[in-house]
Amino acid sequence: MIFLLLMIMAFLFLKIQDNLNAPEIVESVTAACPGCAKEVELDWMVCPHCLQRLRENCPQCHQRKMIIHLFCPSCGSRAVGQDNG
Ligand SMILES: [Zn+2]
Ligand SMILES: [Zn+2]
Repeated sequence: MIFLLLMIMAFLFLKIQDNLNAPEIVESVTAACPGCAKEVELDWMVCPHCLQRLRENCPQCHQRKMIIHLFCPSCGSRAVGQDNG
């Protein structure tokens, strides 16, 4: 019975929609500073504790990326600057 299957699908879809509408707790995304290991927010440009730069421009696509990311999230190229690897 395809009709019955469709009914079940629609029911599940509504349940999923219900879950999606549940309020989410938005918290700021933090990471450890590569310079001093203190907690910094990901949208900060510079660590306020040690002035370590937290963002740099990707040498490949020139999009801004986090220093702590090994690979550029925009183009996937490996970050340069650390030559031991
Ligand atoms: Zn720092
Ligand atoms: Zn890139």
